[in-house]
Amino acid sequence: MPKTDGSRAPVTVIGLGLMGRSLAAAFLAAGHPTTVWNRTAAKADRLVAEGATLAASVGEAIAASPLVVVCVTDYAAARELLDPQAGSLDGKVVANLTTGTSAQARETAAWAAGLGVRYLDGAIMAIPADIATDAAVLLYSGPAEAFEEHGETLRALGAAGTTYLDTDPGLSALYDMSLLGIMWGVLNGFLQGAALLGTVQVRATAFAPLANTMIKVVTEYVTAYAPQIDAGAYPADDATVTVHRDALEHLAEESEKLGVNAELPRLFKALTDRAAADGHAGSSYAALIEQFRKPSS
Ligand code: NAP
Repeated sequence: MPKTDGSRAPVTVIGLGLMGRSLAAAFLAAGHPTTVWNRTAAKADRLVAEGATLAASVGEAIAASPLVVVCVTDYAAARELLDPQAGSLDGKVVANLTTGTSAQARETAAWAAGLGVRYLDGAIMAIPADIATDAAVLLYSGPAEAFEEHGETLRALGAAGTTYLDTDPGLSALYDMSLLGIMWGVLNGFLQGAALLGTVQVRATAFAPLANTMIKVVTEYVTAYAPQIDAGAYPADDATVTVHRDALEHLAEESEKLGVNAELPRLFKALTDRAAADGHAGSSYAALIEQFRKPSS
């Protein structure tokens, strides 16, 4: 059983779902006196056996520590829990690691500011098993001094990947959405490929090593295209939009002929068509940023 260490700052974790339990376990393992609360109290059993204190109410949980970490399903649930506790949050730092939009983060920060509560909004770019390992990336935004005050405690969740971004409380959520978009883009590309190869009985496990090689190639595109996007100039040092557009047509046709879902390649092809129509047929693929900067058509 990990022992809490009197020299470590106390911390409270509200929300003990898959992620919240992992967060609380990491604080405990790092020696922080850890108070927990969850709507379904039984989810605290193992943590309590490991040394956590189960609070009888949200108010009791908040009172136990200067840092209150919240990790529940969504912002509506977080506010449902925190709103009635406005009076007891005075002097506390709330670190909300619940996933949401930047607007929700800023709105919650404004609510907290109105109460004189210091509010950090956080984004967890990790699965529960990665918490407290070098694979865990946790992004924070909000008042810098609140992060500095509790940085040592928060680093128990992943010292290498704990990153303070900015005073704008919406920035961590915006990074979260931007990074998740990459995850789904890559995952959906993999699933498209697995479906195509599956038509000739190639197993996904056989495809995976080459898929991972391709994902590494894409990291080189990201590195090359980021400065082009920042500069607003897209020299086609590798391949033009026209070449990409033709290849996307092949992918869409291949999918349709094999009876595989072609919605993604058709969408990507449409974006290259629009980029070409906007004068970027001879530009690099980075020129599609101008399509992404517009609202959906
Ligand atoms: P989960 O296992 O479904 O747990 C949800 C938690 O929210 C539970 O503690 C649940 O309480 C609580 N909750 C929901 N509605 C509530 C309400 N109205 N009042 C009080 N408590 C309420 O979800 P999770 O995986 O831990 O995810 C929690 C947050 O972390 C989400 O915002 C998620 O996007 C984010 N996140 C998760 C992962 C991941 O890999 N799991 C990764 C990054 C970020 P009960 O136990 O009583 O139902």
